[in-house]
Amino acid sequence: MAVPILMYHKVAPVDPRSTLKGHYVSPRLFEKQMSALASRGFTAIPLNSLLTGDIAPRSFVITFDDGYENFHRYALPILVRHGFQATVFLVANAIGGTNRWDSEAGDVEERLMTLEQIRDAGKQGTQFGSHTLDHADLPAIGEAEAWRQISESREVLGGLLGTDIEAFCYPYGRKNPAVREMVVRAGYRLACSTEKGANNRETDPFALRRINIRRDTSLPVFLYKLWRDARNDG
Ligand SMILES: [Zn+2]
Repeated sequence: MAVPILMYHKVAPVDPRSTLKGHYVSPRLFEKQMSALASRGFTAIPLNSLLTGDIAPRSFVITFDDGYENFHRYALPILVRHGFQATVFLVANAIGGTNRWDSEAGDVEERLMTLEQIRDAGKQGTQFGSHTLDHADLPAIGEAEAWRQISESREVLGGLLGTDIEAFCYPYGRKNPAVREMVVRAGYRLACSTEKGANNRETDPFALRRINIRRDTSLPVFLYKLWRDARNDG
């Protein structure tokens, strides 16, 4: 079965100074998107439910990259209201900090969830995956450092949250065969890329494709993309 995987970054009012305005979806639009799916009988399941193989029709997955505080503030209450569960990819060394990797490149600073907020989201059904220790550009930093970023982040997050971390997400969507192999060897069972499109039986579970939801994704386009990918059984 094809299960669409949505990719979000920030659910928050757009910061006019941001150089990545497309990464913001307003809380109002997010609520519209979730309501539209709920009223059509769709349910959001955690990413690692894909491992069970027994997935109800009209299931979809919502992922959030980086672990912003605005997830906890704006997105989570909307998800909970609809009985939806999301998967959030955390930057292990940046918990309670900011998106340094963007702000050092000239974008605005945004706060990331604290450990307390992460644990609170977990109690409300959110699942977590790793987005490395430092939002590393894995193919660019050498094998030893890439291995540390991939394997240590799994251990650190697993220790903090008291759970096995099964999902990984490549920062910037950057990977190569060696990086993919390290993700497998570190014990992850799934990994998200930033490649667009639907997943089917032949899709590599360590290169899952996602539907990028941006600020300018209108509701009809949003529903069309999701519907198309849910029907694509390839
Ligand atoms: Zn990221």
